[in-house]
Amino acid sequence: MSKTDFPLISIKVPGVDKNFNLSDPATRLEYFEAKAGPEIKKLKEYLDKNTFIAYLLGKKNSGKGTYTKMLMEVFGSDKIAHISIGDLVRATHLSMEDESKKAELIEYLKANYRGYISVEQAIDALLGRDTKTLLPTEFIMALLKWEIDKMPKKALFIDGFPRDLDQVSYSLYFRNLIDYRSDPDIFVAIQIPEAVIDERMKTRVVCPICKTPRSLKLLATKTVGFDEATNSYYLMCDNEGCNKAKMVGKEGDELGIEAIRDRLELDEKLIQKILELEGVSKVLLRNAVPVAKASELVDTYELTPEFYYERGADGVVEVKEKPWTVKDDEGIESYSLMAPAVVVSMIKQLSQVLGL
Ligand SMILES: [Zn+2]
Repeated sequence: MSKTDFPLISIKVPGVDKNFNLSDPATRLEYFEAKAGPEIKKLKEYLDKNTFIAYLLGKKNSGKGTYTKMLMEVFGSDKIAHISIGDLVRATHLSMEDESKKAELIEYLKANYRGYISVEQAIDALLGRDTKTLLPTEFIMALLKWEIDKMPKKALFIDGFPRDLDQVSYSLYFRNLIDYRSDPDIFVAIQIPEAVIDERMKTRVVCPICKTPRSLKLLATKTVGFDEATNSYYLMCDNEGCNKAKMVGKEGDELGIEAIRDRLELDEKLIQKILELEGVSKVLLRNAVPVAKASELVDTYELTPEFYYERGADGVVEVKEKPWTVKDDEGIESYSLMAPAVVVSMIKQLSQVLGL
């Protein structure tokens, strides 16, 4: 399958040469202002009176949720919502245990869902009692509509729909269904080398208490420990309340992308199909840039570093960084961008496709 390469967009701003610390939320806001101040101002004015719907498309573990959360840091969660279909289905599954919530949902579905299987059958499929029936798209759409109906009107970033090739056409008409018919809809696609996803999966760890994700290789915490028994370094959660909890990996992650190969292939097909669509606005985001062109496009602090560790004589672990390069899917030596740098490109393109 031949892939369409996403455009290389420069996010360098003449005169802005401060080295921002992108892991610090406060500095990050300063960084966004410095890099995309005029676009942020226009988008804020737009979001005061208007909304839009964005469909996030990217391979599994491409960071879709992270990008939206950073946009929410800039524009506020009263203006932007991130809706993950996976989270929604899991939450609905849980709420089925509560009789009154269950009754409320069934009543809503009876009024709003239309499809080839009954509400009861669809719920059985949702609960896993019926493993042969796939959740119909019409049912997913009804759940999504329910979620959106419950919140005040704001710009939506939908993650996980369309999820399959046959859902693309549904997504083209979804805004009519949720009474957003006069709002623009935008397809936001993320191109990310599989090697980056692989490395992220193999090195990711999560705080057992607050669930914050980090990576031993690509996103370290402030404090790092050393385990004598296994002769290995480990990250400790930065959050106050977690009391330096030891972050842990998830079983199966050591396999990397081989465990999700089918999903990645389907995700790629979905992106290619979206690229072919006529008459819709598209925002195309690159997670990686070729090493040979990086200096024209981004600043050094916007590149994902590789972290490594050394132990001092006092036993204290020192966190060190060096440049990290990775081959993209075409075999080109590339740098992976830090999430905020991708968000800058997203802000600039959103402002453009909205005609601001
Ligand atoms: Zn924590």
